[in-house]
Amino acid sequence: MRFETKAVHAGRKVDPVTGAVTTPIHLSTTYERAEDGSYTDGFMYSRGDNPNRRSLEACLTDLENGYDCVTYASGMAAIASVIESLPAEKSQRIVMADDMYFGVRTLIGETDIGRRYDIVTVDMTDLNAVRETVEEADTGLVWMETPSNPQIKITDIEAVVEIAAEAGAYTVIDNTAATPMLQNPLALGVDFSLHSVTKYIGGHSDLLLGAVVAKEDTQMLTNLRNWQHAKGAVPSSFDCWLALRGVQSLSARMRVHCANAKEIADFLKQHDRVEAVHYPGLENHPSHEVAKKQMSGFGGLLSFQVKGGEKEALTVANTVALITQATSLGGTHTYIEHRYSVEKELTRAPENLLRLSVGLENVDDLKEDLDQALSNI
Ligand code: PLP
Repeated sequence: MRFETKAVHAGRKVDPVTGAVTTPIHLSTTYERAEDGSYTDGFMYSRGDNPNRRSLEACLTDLENGYDCVTYASGMAAIASVIESLPAEKSQRIVMADDMYFGVRTLIGETDIGRRYDIVTVDMTDLNAVRETVEEADTGLVWMETPSNPQIKITDIEAVVEIAAEAGAYTVIDNTAATPMLQNPLALGVDFSLHSVTKYIGGHSDLLLGAVVAKEDTQMLTNLRNWQHAKGAVPSSFDCWLALRGVQSLSARMRVHCANAKEIADFLKQHDRVEAVHYPGLENHPSHEVAKKQMSGFGGLLSFQVKGGEKEALTVANTVALITQATSLGGTHTYIEHRYSVEKELTRAPENLLRLSVGLENVDDLKEDLDQALSNI
């Protein structure tokens, strides 16, 4: 089956009890035990497994062409689980992209994870630097995020996988911005594809959920499943149900996100109050050719730098009318955010940068709104 068909059908079947075409929401936390102590339908207690979570995990496994999927209460829980599931017999040194999502930097900087693991960062777009960093000490895990948030840098996935494989390290990619529709990291050799399902897969800014899809059966996958069950950061049945509903329209939504984002990138590029636009679909993006090689579309996320500094950027963010000034990405509405003031001292975003998560509105309305906001600086 092709992607669009799988997104609609995977993990879902007509309910055998009622004939309902939509999977019912199963709220029961516990399941009846048979006289011999067994569980006839394979469910015992909903932290361990439940029908809605199982459907969603089956669906995401199928969409990423993976072996198995483990879901969590949020993208950050998925990220923490991946780090803590690095098998003990592997080196506990992790090489990460230097422009990784801000929440990961907070996790490393403000929890004991940062002290328990030897985490080093590198510019993932500089393959010589990646090789040097991976080879300078035994490395257990290499962490990519492409496109990255909010600088929209593109990592050459196959090239980094090759470097990591030579070093015997696991690889993980944060595939949130690309979605399984636009990028299939497992087919490029990555071991784990991670998502903040909260974003494009859920698609409507109304659920919080994370997922890790594994390429094959490994000790690390076993650890991920054990972490999910034992630490209990599991998604609710309702959020799984919402995610499974959202994913059915993922391909239709992504087509509009991509088309709108490209048109806005072109519009901003020629705007006289804009200094730079970062969007992999633009030919002048430094990694446009890499993006073309590994993505089937360039996504709905872009960032741009206005002429001026923090004040001018905030003026634009504060004077858009249709566009919402809000954090997050991947929803139906267009969101703008000044990451520099949100991320404060941990930021790597320039002062004049604005991130735009382009939604599904009419693109002319979005361009008019940006134009009027830019005219205020
Ligand atoms: N990864 C990326 C690229 C993100 O943008 C985010 C959230 O913004 C996360 C992970 C964390 O996901 P969540 O907010 O679902 O915990």
